[in-house]
Amino acid sequence: MKLLTATSRAQGDRDNDFTFCVEGELVMVTPFVCETDRLDPDGGCGCGRSFVGLNSGKATTTALVSDLDFTPEDAAEAIRSALQRSKLVSDDEIPGIIEDVLELADEFPVGTVLEQRLGDVNSRI
Ligand SMILES: [Zn+2]
Repeated sequence: MKLLTATSRAQGDRDNDFTFCVEGELVMVTPFVCETDRLDPDGGCGCGRSFVGLNSGKATTTALVSDLDFTPEDAAEAIRSALQRSKLVSDDEIPGIIEDVLELADEFPVGTVLEQRLGDVNSRI
């Protein structure tokens, strides 16, 4: 199934790109945007334009659509446990976020590098 993974591909296309994730780890659009970036994805924090690594909890501005040997249940569990660890969202919000994460990867072909700007996801390559 298609899932998003951290990638260094297309890093540098924007001046304020960064990647602190482990290359290849599962990522999702950062589910919480702080006050600094809330109105401007280039606001200075980075959370408004980043994906967060499900394992590392670190951020990257580029994500790769990857075809991985996961079941939807495995993927949902990985996302759920990362969200619970992060404590950034309430338990009630988790099922909706999981659904969004799984749908998002499905919208793009495998191999596409994505960026996100306040939740607006687009392809870079
Ligand atoms: Zn922030």
